[in-house]
Amino acid sequence: MHLKTLLLGILPLLLIQCSYSRSQTKTGDTKMDTTKKISAYSRTDSNKVKLNDEELKKTLAPEVYYVARQKGTERPWTSKFEAFKEVGTYYCAVCGNPLFKSDTKFESGCGWPSFYEPISKGSIIYLPDNTYGMQRTEVECGRCKSHLGHVFDDGPPPTGLRYCINGVVLDFEKAQAAEKKYNETAKDSDKKN
Ligand SMILES: [Zn+2]
Repeated sequence: MHLKTLLLGILPLLLIQCSYSRSQTKTGDTKMDTTKKISAYSRTDSNKVKLNDEELKKTLAPEVYYVARQKGTERPWTSKFEAFKEVGTYYCAVCGNPLFKSDTKFESGCGWPSFYEPISKGSIIYLPDNTYGMQRTEVECGRCKSHLGHVFDDGPPPTGLRYCINGVVLDFEKAQAAEKKYNETAKDSDKKN
């Protein structure tokens, strides 16, 4: 009898605490997913990376893994980078390889972040893609071979190309900090030469 009364008194308190801590954990998890990086992640090391699928599965957010490793496509108009206008550099979200500068980004109206030129020749790998009855050119990260999107020849001058990229596989860094790292990389390669 006493025990029952006691439990009835405690139960609502327990429930409140339980739901409180659950919502706390949820917020924490989401934050961790977007910042977790693989051990080879680097914005300055240009050496090729051989990816370990187990590490990727454990580390990457499911939507990043789906696009980067399973050649998936994010839903159009869902990327925060689609109408993004900040000045800076876009990196591969899997390995940190510099891919595009914001001054080569343009509004294509196709629903995905679009660029007309990659940072360097080695930034990107090109592969023929004949899936879905179309002849397209797939673009992958030049450092880790993650799937990024496709390139089409209906872009603006000077290249006439449209790199149609899934925003979920892009990391962005604002100009000032990015520029500094860039100079450091340039100095490093000078030393090697
Ligand atoms: Zn990469």
